[in-house]
Amino acid sequence: MIIGGGAAGLTAALYLGRARRRVLVMDAGSPRNAPAAHMHGFLSRDGMAPGSFLAEGRRELRGYGVEIGEGRVDGVGRTGEDRFEVRLAEHPAVTARAVLVATGLRDELPDIAGLRERWGRDVVHCPYCHGWEVRDSPIAVLGGDNRPFSLHQAALIRQWSSDVVFFPDRIELDQGERERLAARGVRVVEGKVARVVVDEDRLRGVELADGRTIERSAVFVGPRFVPLDGLLRDLGCAVGENGWVVTDPSGRTSVDGVWAAGNVVDESAQAIRAAGAGATAGIALNHHLLARDIEHAVATR
Ligand SMILES: Cc1cc2nc3c(=O)[nH]c(=O)nc-3n(C[C@H](O)[C@H](O)[C@H](O)COP(=O)(O)OP(=O)(O)OC[C@H]3O[C@@H](n4cnc5c(N)ncnc54)[C@H](O)[C@@H]3O)c2cc1C
Repeated sequence: MIIGGGAAGLTAALYLGRARRRVLVMDAGSPRNAPAAHMHGFLSRDGMAPGSFLAEGRRELRGYGVEIGEGRVDGVGRTGEDRFEVRLAEHPAVTARAVLVATGLRDELPDIAGLRERWGRDVVHCPYCHGWEVRDSPIAVLGGDNRPFSLHQAALIRQWSSDVVFFPDRIELDQGERERLAARGVRVVEGKVARVVVDEDRLRGVELADGRTIERSAVFVGPRFVPLDGLLRDLGCAVGENGWVVTDPSGRTSVDGVWAAGNVVDESAQAIRAAGAGATAGIALNHHLLARDIEHAVATR
């Protein structure tokens, strides 16, 4: 059973389907990059629309007999050794011998008017995904709740444009941080950010509470990354000190028969890394099932 049909879940399904395992993928249909028109940095798929990428993946999977269902998984519980019951929101429950959770994460943006509406278009977070497209343009970096990420972003994005303004907003900068930003050529504009200004469906600038508007054509922001890991926590998977479910390098969680891959356990995985994690987990899951197949065959021989 694979829960979540983004890059991680579908790639795991590809490996397991080609290994002739019986696989069901259930997907709620909200991949993280859905607001973006194009996906970048995925070799041979650079610039592809996220929806087309997943549709093509699903088409490939069907060729190997993988079943794909649309809808949410509401819960997973162990019903015996090597048996899980998977409760589906809109369909009868199904049973599975092993489970891969690839449900991704949620990006929580700072509460600034206009950000959510422009998210994935001209309000973005990842320069490796979007930096090239906004190169050499006037860029804003907003301080948010994710302090280290925002400070790193401000310094990093200067690599794509010589015109970068950092709006610390709620972040108090110390002297060292100010010096580093100044040395890097990043201008700092203090003051509470009121909203991003949009005109004719284009981002025009950042408006401060005191009424000033600084013209910009793209905004980078550091979201808070919230893993959609409720199913893993309900299963009792161990959580690390950083508050994220822990896995071994193959994606195996602390609960026997339960794997996790992609953004649900790794906030920094871009699409190709999530896909890679899905491939690794798919192979590990197959080896897990093989070991159980052999145990069973020996016991019944
Ligand atoms: C705006 C934006 C732009 C991005 N652009 C790029 C880019 O250009 N290049 C790049 O490499 N990366 C990009 N990323 C990152 C990329 O989105 C992630 O790396 C990738 O989506 C991670 O894949 P995943 O399979 O882990 O999760 P997701 O793609 O988020 O897939 C998870 C799936 O699980 C489903 N799901 C969740 N809960 C349940 C449930 N209970 N039951 C059933 N299904 C469930 C969701 O609906 C979703 O379809 C971008 C991210 C954002 C926010």
